[in-house]
Amino acid sequence: MNIALKDISKSGDESVFKNRYKSEELDLNIDRFIKLEYVDAEIKVKFKDNKLDVKVNYLYNGKFRCVRCLEEFERHIKNSVYLKYDLSFDQEFLDITEDIRNEIILSYPSKPLCKDDCKGLCPVCGKNLNLYDCDCEKQELNNSFSKLTK
Ligand SMILES: [Zn+2]
Ligand SMILES: [Zn+2]
Repeated sequence: MNIALKDISKSGDESVFKNRYKSEELDLNIDRFIKLEYVDAEIKVKFKDNKLDVKVNYLYNGKFRCVRCLEEFERHIKNSVYLKYDLSFDQEFLDITEDIRNEIILSYPSKPLCKDDCKGLCPVCGKNLNLYDCDCEKQELNNSFSKLTK
């Protein structure tokens, strides 16, 4: 989305724009994103010393894969980012798409967990321990051993 500079208040007040970025527009169809259809952004822009101060509040529903149990889960992500732009003399538009894209890629959880205490998969039989109990002997032996050596 291009913001026309003429639509931004000249008196130093904040101008607010809203935009829904489609995933394709942000070029987010890469492997890490199981599913992310769109990102809603509220963009607050302010002229300051011939620069633009921009605050973006954005939110999206992301689909993630838990690194422990490998199940997919959805999560609502809400975040803000501050950006600053120098303006060139003849500039008419501001396009922050690329910066929003980078921000989302950086803030995307690198090790998503479906829940903090996700029990993961049994290393022996592979069952999802959040859903099933199993009788496998797990790392109890290893654990008590590592405790002794500490
Ligand atoms: Zn999990
Ligand atoms: Zn098991």
